[in-house]
Amino acid sequence: MLESIRKTLQPSGTTLVAVSKTRPNEAILRLYEQGQCIFGENRVQELVQKYETLPKDIQWHLIGHLQTNKVKYIAPFVQTIHSVDSLKLLVEINKQAAKNERIIDCLLQMHIAKEDTKFGMNEQEVQDLLKDEAYAKMENIRIIGVMGMATFTDDEQQVRSEFKHLKSISDQLKNTFFTKNNDFQHLSMGMSGDYKTAIEEGSTMVRIGSLLFR
Ligand SMILES: *Cc1c(COP(=O)(O)O)cnc(C)c1O
Repeated sequence: MLESIRKTLQPSGTTLVAVSKTRPNEAILRLYEQGQCIFGENRVQELVQKYETLPKDIQWHLIGHLQTNKVKYIAPFVQTIHSVDSLKLLVEINKQAAKNERIIDCLLQMHIAKEDTKFGMNEQEVQDLLKDEAYAKMENIRIIGVMGMATFTDDEQQVRSEFKHLKSISDQLKNTFFTKNNDFQHLSMGMSGDYKTAIEEGSTMVRIGSLLFR
């Protein structure tokens, strides 16, 4: 399955984040041995345990909701946090990254789905965050783009229109807040069920779990 996913991602140069939540180390190592070195987890405790026991050249991404009081546990090693959904959280990530003398890549999570159970900011909230003086002063985080999850549905048109919406928010933020900054270039969208649609709509990072670990 890894090979076939790679073939699909290759023309667009889309990055594969292998979502390894709930999977044992042996299963992760099988993919690692085939050259996969970016893995995503959604829980802090599990992420820390896996970081401690697996090869140190794995790049770990946090993709799930992050509580402010848990940032300190992952700040020493996490590469990218996909789930930044408030200024308060970003302040803490910057503070803990500074303590560790690191820069942590962050994606702003946007709410694009119909369900109201999913986390993420709306357009006003994300603009307020990027206009805040506190954000302007941060030196230990880098905002590399936005992340979103589509509605969990078989309706492909629905999913596609949500991805189009996220892409347009991303373009608009880039043109407003990141004109002099090339860091902001990623669109993290697409999972096992909708990654092909996501790539067609401009995704640069897909987060795939169940399809890879079957
Ligand atoms: C679990 C998870 C995924 C992967 O989902 P699959 O359907 O297993 O590919 C992607 N993104 C987030 C935020 C997740 O929690």
